[in-house]
Amino acid sequence: MTYPAVQLQPGRERSLRRFHPFVFSRALAREPEDIPDGAVVRVADSGGTVLGVGHYQQRGSIRVRMLAFEDTAIDAAFWQQALRSAWRLRTSLGLTQSPDTNAFRLVHGEGDGLPGLVADWYHGHVVLQPHTEGMRQSIGHPRAALEAVLGTKLKAVIAAGAGEAGEPEGCDILEHRHRFRVNWAAGQKTGFYLDQRENRHLLARYASGRRVLNVFSYSGAFSVYALAAGATHVCSVESSRQAAAWAAENLALNDLPSERHEAVVADAFDYLKSMPAGFELVVLDPPAFAKHASARHRAIQAYRRVNAAAMRRIEPGGILFTFSCSEVVTPDLFRGAVLAAAIEAGRNIRILHQLHQPPDHPVSIFHPEGEYLKGFVLHVG
Ligand code: SAH
Repeated sequence: MTYPAVQLQPGRERSLRRFHPFVFSRALAREPEDIPDGAVVRVADSGGTVLGVGHYQQRGSIRVRMLAFEDTAIDAAFWQQALRSAWRLRTSLGLTQSPDTNAFRLVHGEGDGLPGLVADWYHGHVVLQPHTEGMRQSIGHPRAALEAVLGTKLKAVIAAGAGEAGEPEGCDILEHRHRFRVNWAAGQKTGFYLDQRENRHLLARYASGRRVLNVFSYSGAFSVYALAAGATHVCSVESSRQAAAWAAENLALNDLPSERHEAVVADAFDYLKSMPAGFELVVLDPPAFAKHASARHRAIQAYRRVNAAAMRRIEPGGILFTFSCSEVVTPDLFRGAVLAAAIEAGRNIRILHQLHQPPDHPVSIFHPEGEYLKGFVLHVG
């Protein structure tokens, strides 16, 4: 296979030799004009030595997302090898044969060497979500490779959101023995926030006997864990009416008492402005406030505001689980926003746990931006 080639400026090969997954436009010797968007290209150093292959993208500052750090074909064998290796990692994490959990992230973009591709496993169904033009165009390859590698373990491969006639729209999953109904056709992301699995499990340790407020609750996953762990009352706040309805459904699936749950469909910022007193455990899991670096400053202010509001009104001795999933808000910046909130609220705050995404969302050490989910468990004195 001969792929078109792009050439780096002298000295710009260093980051590729270190397995950094991106080539930025400013690193290229000249901008080629005739490479189709999404095509596979070879990347050569200034002396002409090919360092690897990746997906070319015309828009944005990232020109090539690397798929391999050698001169190789991106063929069926490549895709099968990549997916086999992703499956093996999840097996070593105890996820592929667990009696308690049958949903996990199977491919996490750069963290699995496949920039721009997400694949989530829901009890035998794989939902694929391409985030780049190259992955959109090649989506048939991971689909075929999954079938080849997983055989009869695989019930269906589905494109997120697209929903073709005859395809299932969702299924029921188990997460730490709790049941959830996932709807990938109408849901957010691929249908469920798999990245909070271990943090929900931790919440269960704090929930017993507490009055819980779950803000940005989506389909109520944190609420289910809290009630199952013996929370006296849980209030879920969510702006999407559909998501709130799913939360009620998930409570019922787990035989949890609906009289101990209240679903509030509201804007979280409005709700928090007049947050009622009496809550002893609060979860703040907002959507990514910043999708691009240009929105970073405003996002940090939004994190400060929601955290300060919750800190002000939570009961003394209360526990706050607070998260950020904005890739451009680094762990340090998020910590700064939470510190600013603590100062503003005038409460004595201690960090009990520092939280992250779970290991089925691995982070390439050469791509620290992949560490997108950050959180704290705070004790509010
Ligand atoms: N904690 C959830 C995931 C939360 S994702 C879980 O464990 O599954 C963020 C959620 O916030 C989404 O469901 C989104 O609909 C909701 N949301 C976004 N903006 C909001 C706002 N201003 N007020 C309330 N909910 C909001």
